[in-house]
Amino acid sequence: MDRVAVLDWSSSGVPKLGKDSIWLGVAQNGQVQAENHATRAAAYDALHRLVADTLAAGETLLLGVDFSLGYPQGFGRALMGDDRPLALWGWMAAQITDSPNNAHNLRMVAAQANAAFAGDGPFWGNGAKADIPGLPRKKPQLTAGLAEFRATEIAAQKAGLRPKSCWQLAGAGAVGAQAMVGLHWLEKLRHAFAGQVAVWPFEQATAPIVIVEVYPALLDQDVAAALAHNPSLVRDALQVQMLAQALQGLAKAGQLAPLFAQPHPMAQVEGWIFGLGHHIALRAALPAGVLPPRLRDDCFAMPQGVNWVPVDQALARLRGALHPVTGTETCPIARAHGRVLAQDCFARRPNPPMPNAAVDGYGFAHAATGAGPQRLPLVAGRAAAGQPYPGVVPPGAAVRILTGAILPAGVDTVVLEEDTALDGAAVVFDGPVKPGANTRKAGEDVPAAAPVLPMGARLRAPDLALLSAVGIAQVPVYRRLRVGVLSTGDEIISSPNQPALPHQIYDANRPMLLALAESWGYQPVDLGHAPDQPEVIAQRLNQGAAEADVIFTSGGASAGDEDHVSALLRASGTLSSWRIALKPGRPLVLAMWQGVPVMGLPGNPVAALVCALIFGRPALSLLAGAGWTQPQGFWVPAAFHKAKKPGRREYLRARLNADGAAEVFQSEGSGRISGLSWADGLVELPDAAIDIGPGTMVRFMPYAGFGI
Ligand code: AMP
Ligand code: MG
Repeated sequence: MDRVAVLDWSSSGVPKLGKDSIWLGVAQNGQVQAENHATRAAAYDALHRLVADTLAAGETLLLGVDFSLGYPQGFGRALMGDDRPLALWGWMAAQITDSPNNAHNLRMVAAQANAAFAGDGPFWGNGAKADIPGLPRKKPQLTAGLAEFRATEIAAQKAGLRPKSCWQLAGAGAVGAQAMVGLHWLEKLRHAFAGQVAVWPFEQATAPIVIVEVYPALLDQDVAAALAHNPSLVRDALQVQMLAQALQGLAKAGQLAPLFAQPHPMAQVEGWIFGLGHHIALRAALPAGVLPPRLRDDCFAMPQGVNWVPVDQALARLRGALHPVTGTETCPIARAHGRVLAQDCFARRPNPPMPNAAVDGYGFAHAATGAGPQRLPLVAGRAAAGQPYPGVVPPGAAVRILTGAILPAGVDTVVLEEDTALDGAAVVFDGPVKPGANTRKAGEDVPAAAPVLPMGARLRAPDLALLSAVGIAQVPVYRRLRVGVLSTGDEIISSPNQPALPHQIYDANRPMLLALAESWGYQPVDLGHAPDQPEVIAQRLNQGAAEADVIFTSGGASAGDEDHVSALLRASGTLSSWRIALKPGRPLVLAMWQGVPVMGLPGNPVAALVCALIFGRPALSLLAGAGWTQPQGFWVPAAFHKAKKPGRREYLRARLNADGAAEVFQSEGSGRISGLSWADGLVELPDAAIDIGPGTMVRFMPYAGFGI
């Protein structure tokens, strides 16, 4: 199996995210991800995409679902005279309705199934307030020779697990309800990809897509250990990810076959928990360590013989080497500004939730109006935002209505106040008015359960407005990336609070790099300043590896005698010194220190800033879960002269003059810190040669486009 997906299902009657909602863990290529879906319909779409992608790639998929695929023997026969479990799926598909907003009729269908039995019938449990005739709230005496548990559940009990009966439809972890609103989606999937999907153990597991029943509690001990390590993880997300990883581990090792061996004579009729009896093998197949995976020590290695690398190639290489390194947590939206979404977010309610008035005016039923002058008597009272009109507006009458008021019963159209006159107790206006005029439809902005923001989105102020409007109070986010910053050099004095001798200089890079990290939404970690002494640098890097997820150093990063950062990282065996065809910039040093990536920036503040903006920013964004970033730039006429040689990319400190043309700082000297502050951005000159004079178009990249 090339891919493994594990589905944690939910029978919720309303859209729901987070704990106890639908989670889908997908393992492929040694990576694992968990998606959270607010509705079954959205989860089905995701499954459909996953299956289609898998087939298009010519790959195979094992799909494990956490509800029973069959019922105790005899149920199908008693219900519809057919013992074949997949015939029951068809029956479910015909009876169950399951709306895009998660509303379902499973209790009615259970009551209907019960009616086929003498006495109470097998299904019981009603989580709803209203009684449902034919669906007992308490466990009934079973009749018709039906067992409470399937053979696989009895086997699971013997193994110390506590599976619930599939007849039980209410109460914590009631899997019965989940199966009733799950099987029909699987039936749909089976038909959508007819001939490509097999349901084990009812069918041979030889199709490219194999559906099995799983029991994520098999890995409970390991899930508990991972949660103890990182309490902010969502348990359901972890469960599906870990089971998917374990199954993929077995698949990769060629050890899945024993799990498919015919387990029990009853399995063909009732279904079977995949992996039952094999949980030690499953646990052993879990990858070492806790999510998320760390970067590999050799991830920055350049192929042998590579000399000068063009900027774009270096960026592509960096992009390929990195992936998110932070765990996830839940964050209330009041504190979510700048945070990165760890899951797709779905609307918890539509926006607007109800049809309402878009203007101040008068509301009425369109059907009772026509062309020419209209005179509609007004009902007493009014409809205002937050103050709904309690009555019904009869056809031919109108009601005073204000912007944002929900449309009262009987009203579907609003005429703008300015287009009307009052005539005693009636409103007068010229028809015809368009049906639905001046109203907003329910969900016209965001439909119920619609996706609103994708995983990886960095939340800006307008995003918070959207999340709040659709009823999302908290969001799953990546933990804030911690960025360590260390300056090196014997000549550097940490802070202008301290005296400096003539041969000493104040640290310009560290305040700059710490501020960059902060404006990018990360947690800056000040690792201070180290003299050019390997022991001190090593000790600061140790601190960085413990307190940060990534470390920026500046200074000492070339290959000379005094380049102690590169010497140390070289000695640790993970150094890769990228010679990038870039001005300003010297080699960019990349290495791993105790599992934490280190980016060695040049000491020169101008080069340090350019390298941090061009290489550091997208790298941090990827590590933080927000994906790769491309700086924004736009083309403007130059207001300067320059003849640029071919062979390397150049960035000049620049700003726009009153005419909107780019002027550059008078000196290209890379020690000129004043130029960094004078500028509002950079002009990017291409790798090739170029002759620039006033009016030549050049690409200006404002600091704001770099997020600063
Ligand atoms: P290095 O990369 O260590 O050879 O340093 C290159 C130049 O940048 C030297 O002139 C250093 O003095 C200067 N430099 C290094 N680190 C800093 C810093 N943190 N602040 C200001 N200048 C620095
Ligand atoms: Mg130095």
